Amino acid sequence: MKIEGTTRITGLFGYPVRHTFSPAMHNAAFAERAMDYAYVPFEVHPRDLKAAVAALIPLGIVGVNITIPHKETVIPLLDEISEEAALMGSVNTIQVTEGRLKGHNTDAYGYETSLRLEGDFELKDKRIFVLGAGGAARAVCFQSALAGVAELVIADVVGARAEALGEAVLQAFPDCGVEICSADAGVLRKALAGKDLFVNATPIGMKVNDPQLIDAAWLDPSALVFDVIYNPEETRLLREAKAQGFKTLNGIGMLVHQGARAFEIFTGVAAPVTVMAEVLREKFQEHP
Ligand code: NAP
Repeated sequence: MKIEGTTRITGLFGYPVRHTFSPAMHNAAFAERAMDYAYVPFEVHPRDLKAAVAALIPLGIVGVNITIPHKETVIPLLDEISEEAALMGSVNTIQVTEGRLKGHNTDAYGYETSLRLEGDFELKDKRIFVLGAGGAARAVCFQSALAGVAELVIADVVGARAEALGEAVLQAFPDCGVEICSADAGVLRKALAGKDLFVNATPIGMKVNDPQLIDAAWLDPSALVFDVIYNPEETRLLREAKAQGFKTLNGIGMLVHQGARAFEIFTGVAAPVTVMAEVLREKFQEHP
């Protein structure tokens, strides 16, 4: 990569950022489009977030992604936030234009776009079940409600977390059929019947010895099984569901499309999505 006096800088604020594959994905995309841009990871300690965000403008940085633990705490530091970021209370991309900072959330876009393009699945009027009520689940649940799902059931091992997320979704979308369910196996089994989509939004499945989340036999035969996990590409959930004949989708597409949307926000140019996905797959093979 050539860094010149003219190179426009983008990047990532997180803590830690050592594990991130976003620089590989974005820099490959800039190279593919022959654009004089670079993407740099910045390890920003929470106590320094305010100073780091304030520095974006004087340093001429055109935009950054925001990751754990800054997605919520960054909001009061911005001039403006997009409608979806306001709904979700979470920002993962800052756009710097004309001395102003605008926050966006592209995780939710990534989720819906991957379902549509890679899963051939439209959320509207569907009945969906989301396991987990953390950061990923927040994007999944709000986007599902925004897209007009008929039914949204949320379960988390921490019941209060599922309740809080369900209440937040209901407050924004009073007509959405939100239900909270216990993460207990017997209850899950009943609640999964009749769902069009099952989403694993927990980190369970990232490690080889992680427990089985659900028995795929509890799902409707036509259900799509979506795992937000992207590394490994095939979790135990997806492997077992596939073996039983279910359609499955991993989290790579969601990750790529959130990155592609951020790329477009930074540059105003359509992202080379295929190249971005290839780079991520290579990285995951190098770092299983
Ligand atoms: P998080 O904030 O820690 O949320 C996970 C939630 O799931 C927690 O509330 C956790 O409870 C709960 N949980 C754990 N085991 C459970 C189980 N067996 N049943 C029900 N709930 C359970 O994590 P996150 O940031 O949302 O990330 C979750 C996963 O999504 C990670 O693997 C991450 O890499 C992935 N992700 C993917 C994308 C993408 O673009 N594809 C984007 C964001 C995140 P405890 O806290 O008690 O464990």
